[in-house]
Amino acid sequence: MPARKLPPTLKLADYYMGRDKLHRSELSREIRANARETLRRVNGLMRRAGLMRKVTSGWRPATINATVPGAARGSKHLSCLAIDLEDRNGALDAWCLAHPDVLEELGLWLEHPDATPGWCHLQTQPPRSGSRVFYP
Ligand SMILES: [Zn+2]
Repeated sequence: MPARKLPPTLKLADYYMGRDKLHRSELSREIRANARETLRRVNGLMRRAGLMRKVTSGWRPATINATVPGAARGSKHLSCLAIDLEDRNGALDAWCLAHPDVLEELGLWLEHPDATPGWCHLQTQPPRSGSRVFYP
């Protein structure tokens, strides 16, 4: 059997990580729309970069977010406005740092790679500082 290739784009199921079933009552219509938009932008980014990545953290219902060490109470993961992608070799983070114009075009903000060893955090709303690349 030939090796399966990675899917070309991330799907909602990748983003929800099964939590849409366990925490259905927290998943409002607005939050679902946010999730679709986050995936649209992030899939666009990965296509542009030529780097496909898996989700390491997608939607975090409040009860789950509370168990994540260091996760902010106001985390954008709560409302499906943020995603963490596997990035052990740092290649996606490095690409994002080198292409702030693409982040701007797609409407994405990047947590500084110094704060995200091994993963890449992207969000679809600006942080309070408004900086395209920011520290949490
Ligand atoms: Zn994150």
